[in-house]
Amino acid sequence: MVKNKKYNKGILVRTCKRCKKIIDERSLYDYCPECFRKIEEIFDKIEEYLKEYPGATAFEIEQETGVPYHIINNFVREGRLIEIPNEYLNFECKRCGCLLLSAHHKYCPSCRREIEKELESTKKQLRKSLNHENAKMHIKHGEGRRK
Ligand SMILES: [Zn+2]
Ligand SMILES: [Zn+2]
Repeated sequence: MVKNKKYNKGILVRTCKRCKKIIDERSLYDYCPECFRKIEEIFDKIEEYLKEYPGATAFEIEQETGVPYHIINNFVREGRLIEIPNEYLNFECKRCGCLLLSAHHKYCPSCRREIEKELESTKKQLRKSLNHENAKMHIKHGEGRRK
C-alpha cells in the first residue's frame, strides 16, 4: 500500500496524516487545512522556545512547553527540526533529581515554581526585618555623648 494514500471507491486518494480525512490530491501538505493549522500552532510554540533556548533537547521542550516528544520527533522526521548531537547537558534537576536533559535549566518546572515561592517568602521576610535595619538613625538630643 502507498504511504499516506488510500483507495476510496476504487480511486487512490490522499488522506490527512493526522485525522485521515481525504485531502486534495494537489495539496502542498500532508494534512487537511484544520490539522495543518493545529500543527503550525504547535510548531510555533516549539520555535518560540528554541529562539529563547537554542539547542534545547526534545526532552526539555516536552517538559517546558508540554508538546509531546513524539510530535517533536515528527517534526524531525519531516525535516523541520534538525537533531544535533549533544555533549553538554545538565542531566538532572538539582533539587528533586528528576531527568532534565537540559543545558538551560538547573531545575525542573515544578521545582522552579517552588523555588520562586520560597524566594518570594524570603523576600517578604527580609522586607519585614529590614524595616528596622534600613531605618535612618538619628542621635537623640541630650544623650548624644555619654561619659
Ligand atoms: Zn486532518
Ligand atoms: Zn525538580
